[in-house]
Amino acid sequence: MTYRSPWMTDELETFREPFRRFLAKDLAPHAERWRKEKITDRSAWLALGEMGALLPSVPEAYGGLGASFAYDAAVIEDIETMVPEMSTPVSVHSNIVAHYINEYGNEEQKKRWLPKMASGEFIGAVAMTEPGTGSDLQAVRTRARKQGNAYSLNGSKTFITNGQLADLIVVVARTSDEPGAKGISLLVLEAEGNDGFRRGRNLDKIGLNASDTSELFFDNAFVPAENLLGPAEGQGFIQLMQQLPRERLGLAIGAVAAIERAVQVTVDYTKERKAFNQPIIAFQNSAFKLAERKTEALIARVFLDYCIMQMIAGDLDAVTASMAKYWCSDKQVETIDECLQLHGGYGYMQEYPISRMFVDARIQKIYGGTNEIMKLLIARSL
Ligand SMILES: Cc1cc2nc3c(=O)[nH]c(=O)nc-3n(C[C@H](O)[C@H](O)[C@H](O)COP(=O)(O)OP(=O)(O)OC[C@H]3O[C@@H](n4cnc5c(N)ncnc54)[C@H](O)[C@@H]3O)c2cc1C
Repeated sequence: MTYRSPWMTDELETFREPFRRFLAKDLAPHAERWRKEKITDRSAWLALGEMGALLPSVPEAYGGLGASFAYDAAVIEDIETMVPEMSTPVSVHSNIVAHYINEYGNEEQKKRWLPKMASGEFIGAVAMTEPGTGSDLQAVRTRARKQGNAYSLNGSKTFITNGQLADLIVVVARTSDEPGAKGISLLVLEAEGNDGFRRGRNLDKIGLNASDTSELFFDNAFVPAENLLGPAEGQGFIQLMQQLPRERLGLAIGAVAAIERAVQVTVDYTKERKAFNQPIIAFQNSAFKLAERKTEALIARVFLDYCIMQMIAGDLDAVTASMAKYWCSDKQVETIDECLQLHGGYGYMQEYPISRMFVDARIQKIYGGTNEIMKLLIARSL
């Protein structure tokens, strides 16, 4: 069975081939250590930058490749398949933070930050979630008060991906006392030498262990007024909403790549492992389960490809992106659970990739907007 995604081109295949080799040879051997240390190496980011893999769809003038979203999709997919430890950190940096700057930054901001993000010298994070608010983003309390030519930022954030490594943090903050969405702005905090900014713990998670996730504290942290994203204050919530389809599609791309990988590693394992003198896959239950999952993987792929094509055309709407995020991540968790079952006790051992995929998958239903929130958005459109 050969299926080629409609967004795949010969040129993109040519980009991917050496990229995959690089991931396998230069990054994958470090993944185990990153899991133990709960953080990736900066050198890995620089190497990804050198491969042109960090900001592929950002214009060349700002250090990117000037490519279409197809390149973003291919990079996310390949990292998820070959070095899943870097999947979430890189997606946040490349697919989310860079695009806030690319979309809403002025010329000076783009020139200042994007080339360094493309090379991996600067690592990006986005800080929306607070200890008191996650799903209800309009309730954020972090406050930025303008004093002369700068904002003084106070408050705290939590669960921030790349929080330990980040050089640039897009902070969702209130710039006025107006309630709800109206008073929210996006400010870019530069971490170096910022006395009022403090990184908290690298949080102890059940999975996704190579991805650092942190609390962040702002105690009169300094943000120059010129680091506001967009022409005026109060645009932050709209900016967030506009970029969410891209973020949610990125999560769906990772989910489908993980589903495909889970099915493949389980087919391989069940062909090898024997019970009652026959390979596990020879039991009808195993074969049927894998047949069902293989079918669903293709259904997910075709739906995902439709969404990617919409994104490339600039037509992906928030509701469809929410469908992709919720459905693909639900399927990811379900599929990996069943694949782990077919591994028997070995599936519960860390040395088998399916065990890591199992713990890593679970967060997909929660971050980027929980799947309940996705259904809320879809339901509103009915
Ligand atoms: C590993 C990891 C990485 C993360 N990375 C980032 C990051 O880089 N930046 C960032 O800003 N955040 C990040 N997050 C935070 C993540 O986006 C939030 O955890 C998520 O949005 C949910 O918010 P919450 O945890 O406060 O849950 P809550 O909002 O407290 O929700 C709890 C439960 O209630 C449900 N619920 C809430 N409201 C409704 C409703 N209206 N209807 C029905 N059900 C509802 C939710 O679906 C959920 O099941 C990360 C989280 C984790 C764990």
